[in-house]
Amino acid sequence: MSVLPLVFYPDARLSEVCAPVNGEDLRPLIADMFDTMYAAPGRGLAGPQVGVMKRVFVMDCTWKEGTRTPMAFLNPEIVDLSAVEDTLEEGCLSIPDLMVPVVRPSEITVRWTDALGVAHQQAFDGFEARCIQHEMDHLDGRVTLDHMSASARAEILQGYTTP
Ligand code: ZN
Repeated sequence: MSVLPLVFYPDARLSEVCAPVNGEDLRPLIADMFDTMYAAPGRGLAGPQVGVMKRVFVMDCTWKEGTRTPMAFLNPEIVDLSAVEDTLEEGCLSIPDLMVPVVRPSEITVRWTDALGVAHQQAFDGFEARCIQHEMDHLDGRVTLDHMSASARAEILQGYTTP
């Protein structure tokens, strides 16, 4: 297990649509993605953020509070979402120290496969719903900044550089 190097904005890989996972065993990669996420430290990490252009992300929304709830999502799909939305400032390990306000549905129902190939469907709300949508954006080549207007983006990026 090892910590992988992070991909930083505006690397072109953060703008690419990822390919579906197709039965390959991603357990070694997922173990490394958890190591990388915990080391960063973060609560979610998607494939493109470590240069893996596959539809996979890992999430643990509670570990910073002392309880680990690691989850790996392969080929996630949102099958239902609430009309109610809320706005929250989001950070991103690929865009360090930059908080971006993003509007998202408050509740979602997600279908995915886990690292062992088991299918799941579950409803999420609160921080988990937000984190899942943030990571799924990465799988479609979108980052937080893509939720802003061009002028707002230019303003927030003024004088900003990533590692
Ligand atoms: Zn991110």
